[in-house]
Amino acid sequence: MATQLAPSIDKEALRAKYAEERDKRLREDGSAQYVRLEEEFTDLATDPYIRQEERDPLTDHVTFAFIGGGFAGLIVGARLKEAGIGDVRIIEKGGDFGGTWYWNRYPGAQCDTASLIYMPLLEETGHKPSEKYAHAPEIRDHCSRIGEKFDLYEKALFHTQVTDLEWDASRKVWIVRTNRGDEFTAKYVGMGTGPLHVAKLPGLPGLETFKGKAFHTSRWDYEYTGGSPEGDFMENLTDKRVAIIGTGATSVQCVPHLAKAAKELLVFQRTPSSVDERNNAPIEDDWFAEIAEEGWQKKWQENFVANLTPGFPSEDLVKDGWTDLGGRVRAGMRNIPPERWTPETVLEAFEEADFQKMEEIRQRAQAIVDDPDTGENLKAWYRQLCKRPCFHDEYLQAFNEASTRLIDTDGKGVERVTENGVFANGEEYEVDCIIYASGFEVSTDYVARAGFDLTGRDGVKLSEYWANGMRTKHGMHVNGFPNAFIVQPAQAANFIANVPHNIVDHANTITAIVSHAEGEGRDAVEVTKDAEDSWVELIQSGTGGNIGNTECTPGYYNNEGKGWEDTDRFNMGYPHGPLAFFSYIDQWRKSGEFEGLEFS
Ligand code: NDP
Repeated sequence: MATQLAPSIDKEALRAKYAEERDKRLREDGSAQYVRLEEEFTDLATDPYIRQEERDPLTDHVTFAFIGGGFAGLIVGARLKEAGIGDVRIIEKGGDFGGTWYWNRYPGAQCDTASLIYMPLLEETGHKPSEKYAHAPEIRDHCSRIGEKFDLYEKALFHTQVTDLEWDASRKVWIVRTNRGDEFTAKYVGMGTGPLHVAKLPGLPGLETFKGKAFHTSRWDYEYTGGSPEGDFMENLTDKRVAIIGTGATSVQCVPHLAKAAKELLVFQRTPSSVDERNNAPIEDDWFAEIAEEGWQKKWQENFVANLTPGFPSEDLVKDGWTDLGGRVRAGMRNIPPERWTPETVLEAFEEADFQKMEEIRQRAQAIVDDPDTGENLKAWYRQLCKRPCFHDEYLQAFNEASTRLIDTDGKGVERVTENGVFANGEEYEVDCIIYASGFEVSTDYVARAGFDLTGRDGVKLSEYWANGMRTKHGMHVNGFPNAFIVQPAQAANFIANVPHNIVDHANTITAIVSHAEGEGRDAVEVTKDAEDSWVELIQSGTGGNIGNTECTPGYYNNEGKGWEDTDRFNMGYPHGPLAFFSYIDQWRKSGEFEGLEFS
């Protein structure tokens, strides 16, 4: 028998409530409701943090060019350098390394996954995170630390966007062109352009008419607000009425800071986030010294994956909201006799654990928020993994500040922006400043998000080759695109609870392949068509889990409620799960055979 729910939880009633709340939010335009910040509002998209410097275009050659200076570029670069491949150039559109951590400097920004497993290369750099969930400035500093330690600054190009990559078959090099007039060559290219880097705004009528100050959370204007990314008080807001649109993971982190500073803060909500407890704490030196034996970070990362995977790990090292849910599912399964274990009974145990967890999270909102109506409106009515789960110990509390008001729109959202403010619930709210916590593009195709195309062997473009869906082996190698490596989670582990883990693993793979090719004096490495086809077939044999689930409330996890399109079935992970993928790929690398790849 599965875990017993508290008698007060009526499963049928909850399912009906979840469906009712989802239906309120379904809309015809799906992802098309949003507009791109950079295309529509270039003035709001410029880099507010580091001024772009003039430089001459480059026409030289490097061994490895990597596009994207976030964790992917840094980790791949570091691993290549460790392997003795010194000639690595990272090309990055921001003014420094960091990727998402370069742009997202909003107050309160913090990692959502425990820093001991989230912050990469801690052993290699000798850094001990200061807190269980480190804040953004520390993570950004860590990016610089990796860049410095592995000499990645030397050749890096910042404030530079790749516009085109073209394979030159006669010279066996990639030609890299950029928006700064560069046209240099690279033997190998890597791409880690990030899953969530194209900022979007709600495509609201009147967006451009607002006469006050407006910005997206990934372009925070501290000159306007005062304060700093370190969380200093935003003194310029004390006489301002501020609106924030959106209540996702970003908003949850910055609202407490806005609530303290603004004369008045209006939080416009379409769908509440589930906000569980954070329990952040400093990482003490003595404790860290005890756990930090050689290989500790890999062990911790693997333990985290194991705790999120059906099975029975003996210990939970990380102990957070993610592993708590995994533990509850396992506890539920232990109540089912092994002879009754079927996919259905596992799903049932999952649903029951989820109902309990979400009920606790809803009760938490009601208990923390003084005003009962506000507490009620902050309750999330969907399964926890339908949207990015949030964890915070000051967000719900912020609604007890006299300055702060939740403007719940019962699923309808803000309707338009006016010259003077925000229009919602049939009412205009006049404000001095609008902050868009409206997220980033996800369900657009890879080439559109990367902002450049690849022209591979025989002049074939990646956008054409992937027109009917992504085709790779291991999410990384594409037939017809020799010496090119893509670093992204789909068709591989797809372990979104800790994205850097996927990247470290990909970096190990790339380094093993490049080291092998260089050691053997090869010019090119390419996946065979057969190997790619059978990998794609294997990926498509899976179910994709909760991602794309149309029973969920709309959001980027399920293509704004529209669910899978045919091409999305290519974006799934390894069908046996992330733990199995990490183990499989480790063997694939170690065998030294690189099955499926051809070296020439
Ligand atoms: P999200 O896409 O999660 O949230 C966008 C928000 O805007 C949603 O609340 C959405 O409502 C709301 N919205 C859109 N249109 C309207 C409208 N017309 N009226 C009112 N509200 C509207 O973006 P975030 O930036 O919060 O987060 C994006 C992702 O970035 C996260 O899911 C996470 O993966 C990552 N992130 C990670 C963090 C970390 O690890 N530390 C911190 C922050 C973000 P609705 O829900 O109804 O669509």
